[in-house]
Amino acid sequence: PVVLGIESSCDETGAGIVSGGRLLAHVVASSMDEHARFGGVVPEIAARAHLQAFNPVVQEALDQAGLRLRDIDAVAVTTGPGLSGALQVGLAGAKTLAYAAGVPLYGVHHLAGHVAADTLEHGPLPNPCMVLIVSGGHTSLLLVRDLVRDPILHLGDTVDDAAGECFDKVARVFGLPYPGGPAIDRAAREGDPCAVAFPRPLTGPRDDPYAFSFSGLKTAAARWAERHRQSGEEIPLADGAASLQEAVADVLTRKALAACREYDVRTLVVVGGVAANSRVRALAEERCAIAGVELRVPPLTLCTDNGAMIAAVGDLLVRADAAPAQLDISIDPSAPLEYAFLHPLARPA
Ligand code: ATP
Ligand code: MG
Ligand code: FE
Repeated sequence: PVVLGIESSCDETGAGIVSGGRLLAHVVASSMDEHARFGGVVPEIAARAHLQAFNPVVQEALDQAGLRLRDIDAVAVTTGPGLSGALQVGLAGAKTLAYAAGVPLYGVHHLAGHVAADTLEHGPLPNPCMVLIVSGGHTSLLLVRDLVRDPILHLGDTVDDAAGECFDKVARVFGLPYPGGPAIDRAAREGDPCAVAFPRPLTGPRDDPYAFSFSGLKTAAARWAERHRQSGEEIPLADGAASLQEAVADVLTRKALAACREYDVRTLVVVGGVAANSRVRALAEERCAIAGVELRVPPLTLCTDNGAMIAAVGDLLVRADAAPAQLDISIDPSAPLEYAFLHPLARPA
């Protein structure tokens, strides 16, 4: 079966086509530039941009795969979590396509998409695997068994900001362009990761081993920049960026590997926008090699939001004979992580 996936939870309009685990098309339009001068995503602007991008993006995906709408066997769409207006546009569009093509529709949890993204590059996920989701809105450790049949074990979360949010907010304080994550990554290339001793939050012996916290780190970075500003010096941004990145990468990989050890899991999958970070990737590689854990990280373009990852989940559901959604399903802007994989097949009896 050929599955068309639609993603519109934030500022990316994505359409992807997947068949039997194979990626046939992957098209993303972003309204990122329109939000830049506001320093963050403006929901109304994002929703309108989805409306404008929807048809061209879907058409381009079909063209890329050399297919027509009638060749599609199922449509999968992100129903949450995300911005309501943005989700609404994608869901309305996906329903229309499914109805027009006379094919089933599957609602997909955005984070299940981030996890499944990796299967498009590296094949089926081993059972079990440890998943670190690090994105603009999430920082979570999950023990994943069968992606569509088993409920996930949710080990931990951030107690405040997400890792991506921390990068985005610190970048703003540093006067770096939006979005902050990639800008910090670029600035860090010339910097010394040991220049500033930023804290490693929640890594003490009495702290929850799988809880994360990034708001203190954000404040520490802001104070550091402010001290330089007040003394009239030029802020050594490269050093600040490299040190911040080091602190985030250190905490993320340390906790992820501790989880692998405790649960005796031999594969770590790092997904979400922050998995694109060069230091997170490098340190994860280094530490996994030492621990004898296999590391899987999707390629950069599949790390950030896209439709292919949603199609990947749809493809798994179709092949697992999961029941499709009714055409009156609604969005769920704050869909909890526990429900990410709770498709009819995974729901406890
Ligand atoms: P969620 O998936 O939790 O709903 P989201 O969809 O906004 O959030 P993603 O698109 O997965 O998040 O990722 C975007 C985040 O990734 C942003 O915070 C961005 O700054 C960050 N990011 C992207 N590239 C990099 C990078 N190279 N280094 C660090 N952070 C990065
Ligand atoms: Mg985005
Ligand atoms: Fe995302």
